[in-house]
Amino acid sequence: MPIKTLEDLFTDGVKDIYYAERKIIAALKKMSRGAKSQDLKAAFDKHLQETEGQVERLVQVFELLGKPARGKTCPAIDGILEEGQEIMEEFKDSEALDAGLLAAAQAVEHYEIARYGTLKSWAMQLGKNDVAQLLEATLLEETNTDQALTQLAEAKVNAKGKQKAA
Ligand code: FE
Ligand code: FE
Ligand code: FE
Repeated sequence: MPIKTLEDLFTDGVKDIYYAERKIIAALKKMSRGAKSQDLKAAFDKHLQETEGQVERLVQVFELLGKPARGKTCPAIDGILEEGQEIMEEFKDSEALDAGLLAAAQAVEHYEIARYGTLKSWAMQLGKNDVAQLLEATLLEETNTDQALTQLAEAKVNAKGKQKAA
């Protein structure tokens, strides 16, 4: 077997995040349906639209790499989303549901931030500046989403979560 290179790591990483983004689209739809707060629903819906654009960007990345757009199972995102699903089930009737959903969404964003940060650095290292720019655009959306969620948590959702159900 040929020795694997940074280029191979990079390609695998793009496939990993392509798999993850498509899972995230399905999860955001579910989480938006599950959220009680209109603000949280709106935040999920906004990021759902962005995420659809991010998948398109990854398709462009595959085109620039001259590779077919193909995902590679990401056990990390499967696990993070499974935790979110558990919260939805276990806190269904709780005032703390939204706080839990929001936290689950932030875990997703943090995974994406870690991955896109690395992939952007690798793309630059490999001299793929056009690809790096696409990854950077998505990284910025993930970072902004994470910050918006923190604000929403601290301004509203966490305090609501402390109330007892009527
Ligand atoms: Fe994303
Ligand atoms: Fe992964
Ligand atoms: Fe995201």
